[in-house]
Amino acid sequence: MDPGIIEVKYNKLFINNEFVDAVSNKTFKVINPSTEKIIAEIAEADKADVDKAVAAAKAAFLRGSEWRSMDASQRGKLINKLADLMDRNAKEIGGLESLNCGKIYSNAVREIYGAANVLRYYAGYCDKIHGNTIPADGNYFSLTRKEPIGVVGQIVPWNFPITLMIWKWGPALATGCTIVTKPAEQTPLTALAVAALVKEAGFPPGVINVIPGFGPIAGEALCLHNDVRKVAFTGSTKVGHRIMEYAAKSNLKKVSLELGGKSPFVIFNDADVNEAVELAHIAAYVNHGQTCCAGSRTFVQSGIYEEFLRKSIEKAKAKKVGDPFKPETEQGPQIDKPSFEKIMFMIEEGKRQGATLETGGNRIGNEGYFVEPTIFSSVTDDMTIAREEIFGPVQSILKFETLEEVIERANDTYYGLAAGIITKDINTALVFAQSVEAGSVWVNCFGSAPQTPFGGYKQSGIGRDLGEESIQDYLETKTISIKLPMKC
Ligand code: ADP
Repeated sequence: MDPGIIEVKYNKLFINNEFVDAVSNKTFKVINPSTEKIIAEIAEADKADVDKAVAAAKAAFLRGSEWRSMDASQRGKLINKLADLMDRNAKEIGGLESLNCGKIYSNAVREIYGAANVLRYYAGYCDKIHGNTIPADGNYFSLTRKEPIGVVGQIVPWNFPITLMIWKWGPALATGCTIVTKPAEQTPLTALAVAALVKEAGFPPGVINVIPGFGPIAGEALCLHNDVRKVAFTGSTKVGHRIMEYAAKSNLKKVSLELGGKSPFVIFNDADVNEAVELAHIAAYVNHGQTCCAGSRTFVQSGIYEEFLRKSIEKAKAKKVGDPFKPETEQGPQIDKPSFEKIMFMIEEGKRQGATLETGGNRIGNEGYFVEPTIFSSVTDDMTIAREEIFGPVQSILKFETLEEVIERANDTYYGLAAGIITKDINTALVFAQSVEAGSVWVNCFGSAPQTPFGGYKQSGIGRDLGEESIQDYLETKTISIKLPMKC
């Protein structure tokens, strides 16, 4: 796959179907994490731009507007059209993503096709969202109507910039809401490239607005805005707490949060060790470990622990780290300096607290944020590397003896996003799946499909992305009771 020449064509805010400068005329720099070089200067939204974007989204949502009076099936057609345009431009957008995010190019392109399919999943929902008739007490004909919640603010992170944006656009558009999206400050380029397709697809102005900017400035203003009826957020648990505060301080807007995780990935003695090593490796290192649901605590039963550890080390050592555009590369750079420094700090903490550094632990080269695939063994549950999110290519391998023990240890965390298990024993799999406190449980596999809800227990979040459940988060339920002259 050849990305061709990668061009940054869009560097302004997208409001009302137009690319515009920030009110302040301010811009910010975007870097390539492989080289640390500046690749673009992007218009920076602040409160004034948030006000403009929300006003555009509010106008697009007004009763009688083109969007509100459009047939639901027509909304579906527009969403499908956008999906087709994303397919058409997948290589170009993927190239931009790889440049800006450091993702392996082929993965970046695959993510664009995947996101287009998420749109198609939601396009089909548009004319199938409806309420019920209810046999209420008394002489009433009672029914519920499902109505779009209104203007939604959507704040997305840098690790899967398009995937996570589209996970939120899909249900918002299917229900008939209007959108103001703030991409992460590290990765605004692809969101703007997709915004250009919004206009081409034929969405009315103001339905989708994209305003790059910084979290504590543009993000905060969006979350505090009284005309925003819901905020959908994916990011850190720390900022998730903030988002709830903003909602409480402003208009009690609805909030859905998809936050951090410290997911257990549990491997039993009966597993095929080679397959388990592969799957646990993917679970820990996917997207260079920059994944909220990464299986970052690998629990291995004692009977296969030594063999599993040895083979995992071989696997990590063989991994090719480097330029994300080279076809042989398996791991690119981490996203930015603060993230890189946090990973290096956590590695030092692991060593200091007595875990055994089996491989990796160092920076690669002196340009770009490349980190060696790292494995710690002899990790205990109380160590920082077993408790806190590292968000980097670091696998912690822990030993366990029994199912009961590993359930308790897997649940000993304030997170609850996902969990994985590898076993051939259906009873073990089912007991684990039903006992673990996690929003997704993957048995002999790792990962989500658009049709299945994804989100967290405990401090991993509120609400769900994907699946039918996500649609409910964008709807209000209106009960209509009509008095009848008699019971009939
Ligand atoms: P990470 O630590 O992975 O960068 P963050 O939670 O800090 O995750 O960021 C995720 C998204 O949240 C980004 O779009 C970021 O700009 C935004 N964000 C960060 N701080 C705030 C805030 N105080 N209010 C609203 N959004 C924020």
